Amino acid sequence: MTIRCLTFDLDDTLWWCSPVIARAEARFYAWLEVHYPAIPARYSTGGLLEHRKAFMRERTELLHDLTTLRKHWLRRLAEEGGYDESLVEPGFTVYWEARNEVEVFDEAHALLDALRAEYRLGAVTNGNADVRRIGIDHYFEFVIRSEEIGAAKPHPEIFAAALAAGGVAPGEAVHIGDDPVRDIQGAAQAGLRTIWVNLRDTPWPLEALAPDASVTRLAEVPAVLRDWQAES
Ligand SMILES: [Mg+2]
Repeated sequence: MTIRCLTFDLDDTLWWCSPVIARAEARFYAWLEVHYPAIPARYSTGGLLEHRKAFMRERTELLHDLTTLRKHWLRRLAEEGGYDESLVEPGFTVYWEARNEVEVFDEAHALLDALRAEYRLGAVTNGNADVRRIGIDHYFEFVIRSEEIGAAKPHPEIFAAALAAGGVAPGEAVHIGDDPVRDIQGAAQAGLRTIWVNLRDTPWPLEALAPDASVTRLAEVPAVLRDWQAES
């Protein structure tokens, strides 16, 4: 079957995620020190991180919706610090703005720009990165976010939503992402072909399943697609 649609993971596929999150958490903490000092007086940066992780374990039903989860956590923090709910929205915004200050790989820009002439491109993400805020929305015809679908990768439902948005059958789509379980196993179970973005060049970790192709650089993706198109 001809490939007509490509879906991309965002975090750690088109940019490195962990330095961005670390910076966003640091900026949020600095903001608390100025505006809500009773909270940082009670928790160190590490202590606050542990507090948030514990909250996430408590509210696993919200793991597909990190925005709502974080706002609930902020409400909890406000209560504990003796503040009211006016902390929640600005506290989220401080984090969210910093969380979207990502450095898109040069190769990601080049790849998306080259591929969009030939394929319908979509983004499929479990996180709260915002492609418009980041300035890469012009590459994508659709963006599927777990918080809107109500299910996160690797759940087949989120890939089904991507196929519907792309107007294609599973065999006409390829999912491209870094996470062996969420991206590759999830997409494969939904019937899509898969390209594992293995930028750190690590061994494939899952015994039960292998990606249809692997790349250690995004620039290798077009050649993989060309080979598949030549076979079809
Ligand atoms: Mg990722």
